[in-house]
Amino acid sequence: MPLKGSCHCKATVFEVTQAPVSVTRCTYSICSKKGALWAYYSPDEVRIAPQRSSATYRWQSMTVKHNFCPTCGCTTFTESPDWSTGEPNFDNMRIAVNARLFDDFDLDAVETVTIDGKNLW
Ligand SMILES: [Zn+2]
Repeated sequence: MPLKGSCHCKATVFEVTQAPVSVTRCTYSICSKKGALWAYYSPDEVRIAPQRSSATYRWQSMTVKHNFCPTCGCTTFTESPDWSTGEPNFDNMRIAVNARLFDDFDLDAVETVTIDGKNLW
């Protein structure tokens, strides 16, 4: 069942094909400072409506687009190659949606998986 979400001011509105079965809390520096809980999807599972405003932050490897709303400040989603092998796989792009932005979704009903990005990367 599709699930919708948006940033606080609705400049970014998105829909995913299904609710996540778990969300990820990452201890990596930017993830912990943002406080996002990530739900991962392939690009064909996420539809992002044309954004009225959006901004992107990149750093270090410059391969991950950390998108946020410049109006209300919400962390919205990231676009990244798959890094599961330790190397970026640009043939397998991933979108991590900030699960805190889902509408009508109980975050406490799904497992929160912690990735120790602080010590892995
Ligand atoms: Zn916004």
